Amino acid sequence: MKTSNEIRSDFLKFFESNGHRAVTSSSLVPADDPTLLFTNAGMNQFKDVFLGAEKRQYTRAVTSQKCVRAGGKHNDLDQVGYTARHHTFFEMLGNFSFGDYFKHDAIRFAWSLLTETWGIPADRLYVTVYHTDNEAHDIWRNDIGLAEDRVLRIGDKPGGAEYESDNFWAMGDTGPCGPCSEIFFDHGDHIEGGLPGTENEDGDRYVEIWNLVFMQFDRGADGELTPLPAPCVDTGMGLERVAAVLQGTHDNYLTDQFQALVSAAAELVGCADRDNKSLRVIADHIRACAFLVADGVLPSNDGRGYVLRRIIRRAVRHGFMLGRKTPFFSEMVAPLAAVMGEAYPVLLSDGERIATVLAEEEKRFARTLDTGLGILRKVMDETAAGKAIDGDTAFLLYDTYGFPLDLTQDIAREEGLSVDTEGFDQAMAEQRKRGRDARQFKAATISADALSRLQPGEFVGYDTGTSDARVTGIL
Ligand code: ATP
Ligand code: MG
Ligand code: MG
Ligand code: MG
Repeated sequence: MKTSNEIRSDFLKFFESNGHRAVTSSSLVPADDPTLLFTNAGMNQFKDVFLGAEKRQYTRAVTSQKCVRAGGKHNDLDQVGYTARHHTFFEMLGNFSFGDYFKHDAIRFAWSLLTETWGIPADRLYVTVYHTDNEAHDIWRNDIGLAEDRVLRIGDKPGGAEYESDNFWAMGDTGPCGPCSEIFFDHGDHIEGGLPGTENEDGDRYVEIWNLVFMQFDRGADGELTPLPAPCVDTGMGLERVAAVLQGTHDNYLTDQFQALVSAAAELVGCADRDNKSLRVIADHIRACAFLVADGVLPSNDGRGYVLRRIIRRAVRHGFMLGRKTPFFSEMVAPLAAVMGEAYPVLLSDGERIATVLAEEEKRFARTLDTGLGILRKVMDETAAGKAIDGDTAFLLYDTYGFPLDLTQDIAREEGLSVDTEGFDQAMAEQRKRGRDARQFKAATISADALSRLQPGEFVGYDTGTSDARVTGIL
């Protein structure tokens, strides 16, 4: 059986031997790109190369890129624990052509690696193409020899604009864009799910393992597509998904690396049922949290730090639910380093600091988690099935007990309930207004000297009337 580490290195070697430069993964915090919350695809670090604004010494590259999809345009946080194939953190294996090869070679490389190097049976694979992309269709049909019913044409989203499709990729509203071809693996009819483009496509049976993007056009402000002088290729394959395929399971959480993490979580929280959803969530979240801290993100109340805080608090709540009432999450760093430290030595060299950051955040939340959960439990018991938890409760949990809104939503969802987010926003707005009014009053009573002695983040009492958690020190 191939380990995840072997699969990663197979991929890099395959493309290196085909003339690609191996480039190391970039940070999860995108360099010079404030529009992007976290690195979410292998192409991010090559954005300027694709745009023609930057030249490299090579025209072919291969990477295994750390990605986080837990916020921003791509947000898979709510899928975690519900599908067998989505993670907050995953590794995207990708090969890139900067004006070098195009569709023909991209397809040939992918097919050769999957079916020859790895021996995946062709009759378990399906591919999609954008509905007007006859070129890619014909390469799959004629050069690769796939039957017509294996090459699915995918159109624009019903009700969506032209070129709005899973099979049409764009960097933004304008700029490089083009059709994609996605490769799916059929895990068999014992798994729920339909073929891409059909009603039940969102299951775990036909899993998208690899996406080949053919950057072919430049979209102008008027929406017009102009062919690029030198078309490019950008591909992405989820390491965890292909590991599942090569390890004979449909379930990413049953692969080698995840099993090690699930076992570690099971032991720490004292849960014998290794299929337990909460263990999976913990196993997923430790990866995202440890790698984010490694890349310099710290828990905070806004931006990237708040996303990290939300993921940590979700993980801690899952451990709590399984009966672990004392901090445990930071102890997941060592087992993570054991399985991923070879590929990412920072987990070993910086492991202690990462664990300390996580432990502090866990302790901060532990003070209010139990009471907050008790309040939520009571309100959920009083809320009829299918109805929403009121916004005031969600806001109280947020403001006083440090429950990010999405944590409350996540708990509610487990009980078949939702949260009145409009009511939440309204409660927040009212609180802010009270804060402003109170500050105007306070300004007259606190001397400038006294104010200047306060440290940022210092607790100055509830009567400032502000929900700014940095001031109240609660979140
Ligand atoms: P899906 O439709 O399954 O959500 P996607 O089309 O959003 O995937 P891409 O943006 O095409 O994904 O990313 C390239 C590849 O990265 C996918 O083919 C898949 O193998 C992998 N991938 C994407 N999102 C995740 C995730 N949340 N967890 C694990 N692997 C992922
Ligand atoms: Mg997706
Ligand atoms: Mg997709
Ligand atoms: Mg895709």
